[in-house]
Amino acid sequence: MQTSAALFREVGAPLSIERIALDAPAPTEVLVRVAAAGLCRTDYHVMRGERRVAMRPMVLGHEVAGVVEATGAAVGGIKQGDHVVLTFIPGCGICRWCRQGLHHFCAEGPRITQGPQLDGSYRRRDREGIAVGAFCMIGGFAERTVVDQASVVVIEKDIPLDLASLVACGVPAGVGAARRRARVKPGDSVLVVGCGGDGMNVVQGAALCRASKIIGADVVPQKLDWAREFGATHGVNARGENLTRAVLELTDGIGVDHAFVCINPPETLLPAFRATAKGGNVVVTALTPDTVTDIKIPPLELLLTQKAIMGAVYGFASPRVQIPELLALYRKGSLKLRELISRTYRLDDINQGYADLEAGRNLRGVVIFDG
Ligand SMILES: [Zn+2]
Ligand SMILES: [Zn+2]
Repeated sequence: MQTSAALFREVGAPLSIERIALDAPAPTEVLVRVAAAGLCRTDYHVMRGERRVAMRPMVLGHEVAGVVEATGAAVGGIKQGDHVVLTFIPGCGICRWCRQGLHHFCAEGPRITQGPQLDGSYRRRDREGIAVGAFCMIGGFAERTVVDQASVVVIEKDIPLDLASLVACGVPAGVGAARRRARVKPGDSVLVVGCGGDGMNVVQGAALCRASKIIGADVVPQKLDWAREFGATHGVNARGENLTRAVLELTDGIGVDHAFVCINPPETLLPAFRATAKGGNVVVTALTPDTVTDIKIPPLELLLTQKAIMGAVYGFASPRVQIPELLALYRKGSLKLRELISRTYRLDDINQGYADLEAGRNLRGVVIFDG
């Protein structure tokens, strides 16, 4: 079949909206009609060459919810008509990590920037017949996609699919970083540097954990206002103020129990580290361009302050566990999802969506597809 898709063809260029050929699913794969695809900064890093992928052209997009239209002969537990969220790390089910339920560590994870399907072959071709890759084995900026069942989580049908797309990436990344990586406790103090897609969800994750002080920091004043709506108790404009000094002033000179670095780690990690209390946690959720190869933290300072620096991908838990859990919290009214969507776009307007992301106008932009 043919489908419209947004292709990454050139570093630094807009995505190219094209009709491409999409093959039928292989035995372990499913065909998904994409309903919504979130505009995450990760794809933007790819477009700018800061996160290298192994091939072009490639269909980007990894925050997807949709409806299953067909299944391969060997697919189990997924049927036509199911509503699904796609996971940007597959859960192969057989590697050492997946056998322990740790799908966010799946051994196939490092292959998500390569381009082919999980089985190593391609399902997409452009007009010239050239193989087209799928970012994160998803390729979600397209009307339809074919993915392995390892990338699929079936959800209940009462959840609007635009909201479901949010729990594919930013929401578990942020909420999980607070709840599962740092294990924020009631009464703890928290700093969130970068109140965007991940960071705003760290804010709401910290609020769910009943942190008493939640300090949002950003260079966009609007995001600090939004952060208050998601549970932040204080805001620091990191453009006008010295971040470390401002946080120490808000915490009686002690620093926060947990600092989350959700934007630009090369510049924000050290100020966040120094705004953290002795023995506290510094959690990095943001990507760094792969040309940056060191972190500037004096080892003696690390030793003497006894802080922990940790990474958190996918909120440090299996998306198969987190996605249903987060949707249950949404259903109970404990998790904001609708409020995360600033604007929606048609696939044809996707480059405007990334311009809005770059300009700091969006908390989350989402591409919406017709049925
Ligand atoms: Zn994402
Ligand atoms: Zn695995």
